[in-house]
Amino acid sequence: MKCALVRPDGSTVHTERHPTDAGRGPDAVVETILDVAEGLAGKARADGLDPVALGIAVPGVVDEAAGVAVWSANVGFRDVPLRDLAAARLGLPTALGHDVRVGGLAEARLGAGRGTGHVLFVAIGTGIAAAHVVDGVAATGAHGAAGEIGHILVRPGGPRCGCGRDGCLEAVASASAIARRYAEATGAGLTGTGPTGAAGGDGLAGGGLAGTPTSAADVADRAAAGEPAAAQVWAEAVEALADGLATGQSLYDVEAVVVGGGLAQAGPRLFDPLRAALHERMTFHRRPRLAAAALGDEAGCLGAALLALDAR
Ligand SMILES: [Zn+2]
Repeated sequence: MKCALVRPDGSTVHTERHPTDAGRGPDAVVETILDVAEGLAGKARADGLDPVALGIAVPGVVDEAAGVAVWSANVGFRDVPLRDLAAARLGLPTALGHDVRVGGLAEARLGAGRGTGHVLFVAIGTGIAAAHVVDGVAATGAHGAAGEIGHILVRPGGPRCGCGRDGCLEAVASASAIARRYAEATGAGLTGTGPTGAAGGDGLAGGGLAGTPTSAADVADRAAAGEPAAAQVWAEAVEALADGLATGQSLYDVEAVVVGGGLAQAGPRLFDPLRAALHERMTFHRRPRLAAAALGDEAGCLGAALLALDAR
Protein backbone atom coordinates (compact mmCIF):
# COMPACT_ATOMS: atom_id res chain seq x y z
CA MET A 1 0.00 0.00 0.00
CA LYS A 2 1.33 3.35 -1.03
CA CYS A 3 -0.07 6.13 1.13
CA ALA A 4 0.34 9.89 1.18
CA LEU A 5 -0.87 13.11 2.72
CA VAL A 6 -1.57 15.41 -0.21
CA ARG A 7 -2.40 19.11 -0.19
CA PRO A 8 -5.26 20.44 -2.34
CA ASP A 9 -2.69 21.80 -4.83
CA GLY A 10 -1.40 18.26 -5.46
CA SER A 11 1.84 18.55 -3.51
CA THR A 12 2.74 15.66 -1.21
CA VAL A 13 3.68 16.40 2.41
CA HIS A 14 4.20 12.86 3.71
CA THR A 15 4.35 9.32 2.30
CA GLU A 16 4.18 5.86 3.84
CA ARG A 17 4.30 2.29 2.57
CA HIS A 18 2.76 -0.73 4.23
CA PRO A 19 2.62 -4.41 3.26
CA THR A 20 -0.77 -5.58 1.99
CA ASP A 21 -0.22 -9.17 3.12
CA ALA A 22 -3.07 -10.31 0.92
CA GLY A 23 -2.52 -13.87 2.09
CA ARG A 24 -4.32 -13.00 5.34
CA GLY A 25 -7.60 -12.70 3.42
CA PRO A 26 -9.76 -9.77 2.35
CA ASP A 27 -11.20 -8.93 5.79
CA ALA A 28 -7.75 -8.49 7.29
CA VAL A 29 -6.67 -6.36 4.31
CA VAL A 30 -9.69 -4.09 4.80
CA GLU A 31 -8.87 -3.72 8.50
CA THR A 32 -5.28 -2.79 7.62
CA ILE A 33 -6.47 -0.19 5.09
CA LEU A 34 -8.72 1.39 7.72
CA ASP A 35 -5.99 1.32 10.39
CA VAL A 36 -3.44 2.87 8.03
CA ALA A 37 -5.90 5.57 6.90
CA GLU A 38 -6.73 6.39 10.51
CA GLY A 39 -3.03 6.59 11.30
CA LEU A 40 -2.46 8.98 8.39
CA ALA A 41 -5.27 11.26 9.53
CA GLY A 42 -3.78 11.23 13.04
CA LYS A 43 -0.34 12.06 11.65
CA ALA A 44 -1.83 14.98 9.72
CA ARG A 45 -3.52 16.38 12.82
CA ALA A 46 -0.36 15.92 14.90
CA ASP A 47 1.46 18.01 12.29
CA GLY A 48 -1.10 20.78 12.52
CA LEU A 49 -2.87 19.85 9.28
CA ASP A 50 -6.60 19.41 8.88
CA PRO A 51 -7.56 16.30 6.89
CA VAL A 52 -10.57 17.15 4.71
CA ALA A 53 -11.13 13.98 2.69
CA LEU A 54 -9.90 10.43 2.15
CA GLY A 55 -9.26 8.76 -1.21
CA ILE A 56 -8.66 5.03 -1.65
CA ALA A 57 -7.76 3.28 -4.90
CA VAL A 58 -7.78 -0.48 -5.44
CA PRO A 59 -7.18 -2.75 -8.45
CA GLY A 60 -9.81 -4.86 -10.17
CA VAL A 61 -13.41 -3.88 -10.85
CA VAL A 62 -14.51 -0.84 -8.84
CA ASP A 63 -17.99 0.67 -8.70
CA GLU A 64 -16.99 4.24 -7.92
CA ALA A 65 -20.55 5.57 -7.73
CA ALA A 66 -21.50 2.99 -5.09
CA GLY A 67 -18.07 3.05 -3.42
CA VAL A 68 -17.75 -0.71 -3.73
CA ALA A 69 -14.66 -2.80 -4.57
CA VAL A 70 -16.59 -5.26 -6.73
CA TRP A 71 -13.82 -7.70 -7.53
CA SER A 72 -10.07 -7.82 -7.13
CA ALA A 73 -8.05 -10.93 -7.75
CA ASN A 74 -4.93 -9.49 -6.08
CA VAL A 75 -6.48 -8.91 -2.66
CA GLY A 76 -9.53 -11.20 -2.82
CA PHE A 77 -12.12 -8.39 -2.61
CA ARG A 78 -15.69 -9.27 -3.58
CA ASP A 79 -18.33 -6.55 -3.15
CA VAL A 80 -16.53 -4.77 -0.31
CA PRO A 81 -18.25 -1.43 0.54
CA LEU A 82 -14.87 0.13 1.20
CA ARG A 83 -15.93 3.76 0.83
CA ASP A 84 -18.64 3.60 3.49
CA LEU A 85 -16.50 1.50 5.83
CA ALA A 86 -13.71 4.08 5.66
CA ALA A 87 -16.06 7.06 5.93
CA ALA A 88 -17.60 5.53 9.06
CA ARG A 89 -14.22 4.82 10.65
CA LEU A 90 -12.58 8.19 9.90
CA GLY A 91 -15.60 10.50 9.80
CA LEU A 92 -14.28 12.08 6.59
CA PRO A 93 -15.79 12.39 3.11
CA THR A 94 -14.34 9.40 1.26
CA ALA A 95 -13.95 8.41 -2.40
CA LEU A 96 -13.12 4.98 -3.75
CA GLY A 97 -11.38 4.69 -7.12
CA HIS A 98 -9.65 2.25 -9.44
CA ASP A 99 -5.87 2.16 -9.35
CA VAL A 100 -5.24 2.75 -13.06
CA ARG A 101 -8.06 5.31 -13.42
CA VAL A 102 -6.78 7.42 -10.54
CA GLY A 103 -3.25 7.12 -11.93
CA GLY A 104 -4.59 8.45 -15.23
CA LEU A 105 -6.42 11.21 -13.42
CA ALA A 106 -3.20 12.35 -11.76
CA GLU A 107 -1.16 12.14 -14.97
CA ALA A 108 -3.83 14.07 -16.87
CA ARG A 109 -4.13 16.83 -14.28
CA LEU A 110 -0.69 17.04 -12.67
CA GLY A 111 1.68 14.98 -14.84
CA ALA A 112 2.49 14.34 -18.49
CA GLY A 113 -1.01 15.27 -19.67
CA ARG A 114 -1.17 18.54 -17.74
CA GLY A 115 -2.94 21.26 -19.71
CA THR A 116 -4.54 18.67 -22.01
CA GLY A 117 -8.31 18.14 -22.10
CA HIS A 118 -8.38 14.64 -23.59
CA VAL A 119 -5.86 12.08 -22.37
CA LEU A 120 -5.51 8.32 -22.71
CA PHE A 121 -3.30 6.97 -19.92
CA VAL A 122 -1.98 3.46 -20.51
CA ALA A 123 -0.21 1.49 -17.77
CA ILE A 124 1.95 -1.38 -19.03
CA GLY A 125 3.27 -3.80 -16.43
CA THR A 126 2.22 -7.37 -15.68
CA GLY A 127 -0.97 -6.43 -17.57
CA ILE A 128 -2.10 -3.50 -19.67
CA ALA A 129 -4.90 -1.17 -18.60
CA ALA A 130 -5.95 2.34 -19.51
CA ALA A 131 -7.88 5.37 -18.33
CA HIS A 132 -9.66 7.79 -20.63
CA VAL A 133 -9.63 11.18 -18.96
CA VAL A 134 -11.69 14.09 -20.30
CA ASP A 135 -11.36 17.49 -18.64
CA GLY A 136 -9.89 15.90 -15.54
CA VAL A 137 -12.49 13.15 -15.09
CA ALA A 138 -11.76 9.47 -15.80
CA ALA A 139 -14.64 7.52 -17.35
CA THR A 140 -15.56 4.51 -15.21
CA GLY A 141 -17.83 2.63 -17.63
CA ALA A 142 -21.31 1.36 -16.86
CA HIS A 143 -20.00 -1.47 -14.68
CA GLY A 144 -16.79 0.01 -13.30
CA ALA A 145 -14.68 -1.82 -15.86
CA ALA A 146 -13.76 0.84 -18.45
CA GLY A 147 -10.25 0.98 -19.87
CA GLU A 148 -9.42 -2.71 -20.31
CA ILE A 149 -7.33 -1.89 -23.36
CA GLY A 150 -5.09 -4.89 -22.63
CA HIS A 151 -7.94 -7.13 -23.79
CA ILE A 152 -8.33 -5.54 -27.21
CA LEU A 153 -7.98 -8.43 -29.66
CA VAL A 154 -4.89 -7.61 -31.72
CA ARG A 155 -3.64 -11.06 -32.82
CA PRO A 156 -6.53 -13.48 -33.43
CA GLY A 157 -5.28 -16.99 -32.66
CA GLY A 158 -2.23 -15.50 -30.93
CA PRO A 159 -0.86 -16.21 -27.45
CA ARG A 160 -3.36 -17.18 -24.75
CA CYS A 161 -4.31 -14.29 -22.47
CA GLY A 162 -4.94 -14.54 -18.73
CA CYS A 163 -8.60 -13.75 -19.49
CA GLY A 164 -8.89 -17.01 -21.43
CA ARG A 165 -8.96 -15.65 -24.96
CA ASP A 166 -6.19 -15.92 -27.55
CA GLY A 167 -4.50 -12.85 -28.97
CA CYS A 168 -5.28 -10.03 -26.52
CA LEU A 169 -2.88 -7.07 -26.51
CA GLU A 170 -1.53 -7.87 -23.06
CA ALA A 171 -0.71 -11.46 -24.08
CA VAL A 172 1.78 -10.01 -26.59
CA ALA A 173 2.95 -6.70 -25.18
CA SER A 174 2.75 -6.57 -21.38
CA ALA A 175 6.09 -6.63 -19.59
CA SER A 176 5.44 -10.17 -18.41
CA ALA A 177 4.36 -11.29 -21.90
CA ILE A 178 7.57 -9.87 -23.40
CA ALA A 179 9.69 -11.74 -20.86
CA ARG A 180 7.72 -14.96 -21.40
CA ARG A 181 7.79 -14.75 -25.19
CA TYR A 182 11.53 -14.15 -25.20
CA ALA A 183 12.05 -17.17 -22.96
CA GLU A 184 9.88 -19.27 -25.29
CA ALA A 185 11.66 -18.02 -28.41
CA THR A 186 15.14 -18.76 -27.11
CA GLY A 187 14.43 -21.82 -24.99
CA ALA A 188 15.93 -19.86 -22.12
CA GLY A 189 13.00 -20.86 -19.97
CA LEU A 190 14.01 -24.49 -20.36
CA THR A 191 17.56 -23.96 -19.14
CA GLY A 192 16.57 -22.24 -15.91
CA THR A 193 17.04 -23.43 -12.40
CA GLY A 194 14.32 -26.08 -12.46
CA PRO A 195 15.62 -29.65 -12.18
CA THR A 196 13.58 -31.07 -15.06
CA GLY A 197 13.29 -28.19 -17.48
CA ALA A 198 9.80 -29.43 -18.34
CA ALA A 199 6.71 -27.35 -18.98
CA GLY A 200 8.27 -23.96 -18.27
CA GLY A 201 5.86 -22.98 -15.51
CA ASP A 202 3.38 -20.16 -15.94
CA GLY A 203 6.01 -18.01 -17.59
CA LEU A 204 5.65 -14.86 -15.51
CA ALA A 205 9.37 -14.28 -15.52
CA GLY A 206 10.93 -16.94 -17.70
CA GLY A 207 14.36 -18.41 -17.12
CA GLY A 208 17.43 -16.54 -18.28
CA LEU A 209 20.51 -17.98 -19.93
CA ALA A 210 22.32 -18.12 -16.62
CA GLY A 211 19.30 -19.36 -14.73
CA THR A 212 18.16 -15.84 -13.79
CA PRO A 213 14.82 -14.44 -14.96
CA THR A 214 14.91 -12.40 -18.15
CA SER A 215 12.85 -9.25 -17.65
CA ALA A 216 11.25 -7.09 -20.33
CA ALA A 217 14.01 -4.56 -19.62
CA ASP A 218 16.60 -7.24 -20.38
CA VAL A 219 14.80 -8.00 -23.65
CA ALA A 220 14.90 -4.29 -24.54
CA ASP A 221 18.64 -4.22 -23.77
CA ARG A 222 19.29 -7.32 -25.86
CA ALA A 223 17.17 -5.99 -28.72
CA ALA A 224 19.11 -2.71 -28.67
CA ALA A 225 22.35 -4.73 -28.76
CA GLY A 226 21.11 -6.44 -31.92
CA GLU A 227 20.23 -9.89 -30.61
CA PRO A 228 17.77 -11.20 -33.23
CA ALA A 229 15.36 -13.13 -30.95
CA ALA A 230 15.09 -10.19 -28.55
CA ALA A 231 14.68 -7.73 -31.40
CA GLN A 232 11.84 -9.79 -32.84
CA VAL A 233 9.96 -10.16 -29.55
CA TRP A 234 10.42 -6.45 -28.84
CA ALA A 235 9.30 -5.41 -32.34
CA GLU A 236 6.22 -7.64 -32.13
CA ALA A 237 5.29 -6.07 -28.81
CA VAL A 238 5.71 -2.56 -30.21
CA GLU A 239 3.58 -3.39 -33.27
CA ALA A 240 0.85 -4.88 -31.09
CA LEU A 241 0.92 -1.84 -28.80
CA ALA A 242 0.61 0.43 -31.82
CA ASP A 243 -2.44 -1.57 -32.95
CA GLY A 244 -4.02 -1.22 -29.51
CA LEU A 245 -3.25 2.48 -29.22
CA ALA A 246 -4.53 3.12 -32.75
CA THR A 247 -7.81 1.50 -31.72
CA GLY A 248 -7.81 3.76 -28.68
CA GLN A 249 -7.25 6.81 -30.83
CA SER A 250 -10.07 5.80 -33.18
CA LEU A 251 -12.41 5.54 -30.20
CA TYR A 252 -11.32 8.54 -28.14
CA ASP A 253 -9.56 11.07 -30.39
CA VAL A 254 -7.25 12.22 -27.59
CA GLU A 255 -4.59 14.93 -27.63
CA ALA A 256 -2.11 12.93 -25.58
CA VAL A 257 -1.41 9.25 -24.96
CA VAL A 258 0.55 8.93 -21.71
CA VAL A 259 2.30 5.59 -21.16
CA GLY A 260 3.30 4.53 -17.64
CA GLY A 261 4.03 1.34 -15.77
CA GLY A 262 7.26 -0.64 -15.76
CA LEU A 263 7.60 -0.91 -19.52
CA ALA A 264 7.70 2.90 -19.93
CA GLN A 265 11.10 2.79 -18.24
CA ALA A 266 12.53 1.41 -21.47
CA GLY A 267 12.48 5.07 -22.56
CA PRO A 268 13.33 5.87 -26.20
CA ARG A 269 13.76 2.15 -26.98
CA LEU A 270 9.99 1.93 -26.49
CA PHE A 271 8.76 5.40 -27.34
CA ASP A 272 10.67 6.04 -30.58
CA PRO A 273 9.49 2.93 -32.47
CA LEU A 274 6.04 3.04 -30.84
CA ARG A 275 5.49 6.66 -31.89
CA ALA A 276 6.50 5.83 -35.47
CA ALA A 277 4.30 2.72 -35.61
CA LEU A 278 1.33 4.57 -34.10
CA HIS A 279 1.63 7.48 -36.50
CA GLU A 280 1.94 5.03 -39.39
CA ARG A 281 -1.51 3.69 -38.47
CA MET A 282 -3.19 7.09 -38.45
CA THR A 283 -5.05 7.89 -41.65
CA PHE A 284 -7.56 10.69 -41.15
CA HIS A 285 -7.07 10.61 -37.38
CA ARG A 286 -5.27 13.42 -35.63
CA ARG A 287 -1.95 12.19 -34.29
CA PRO A 288 -1.85 12.17 -30.50
CA ARG A 289 1.24 13.29 -28.62
CA LEU A 290 2.88 10.18 -27.12
CA ALA A 291 4.53 10.86 -23.77
CA ALA A 292 6.04 8.95 -20.86
CA ALA A 293 4.22 9.21 -17.54
CA ALA A 294 5.76 11.87 -15.30
CA LEU A 295 4.62 11.01 -11.78
CA GLY A 296 6.09 7.53 -11.37
CA ASP A 297 4.58 5.40 -8.63
CA GLU A 298 3.24 8.50 -6.86
CA ALA A 299 0.47 8.76 -9.46
CA GLY A 300 -1.92 6.43 -7.65
CA CYS A 301 -1.76 8.32 -4.34
CA LEU A 302 -2.10 11.70 -6.04
CA GLY A 303 -5.04 10.49 -8.11
CA ALA A 304 -6.82 9.04 -5.07
CA ALA A 305 -6.37 12.41 -3.36
CA LEU A 306 -7.74 14.28 -6.40
CA LEU A 307 -10.75 11.96 -6.48
CA ALA A 308 -11.36 12.60 -2.79
CA LEU A 309 -11.08 16.37 -3.23
CA ASP A 310 -13.51 16.21 -6.17
CA ALA A 311 -16.02 14.16 -4.21
CA ARG A 312 -16.00 16.13 -0.98
ZN1 LIG B 1 -7.49 -10.88 -22.53
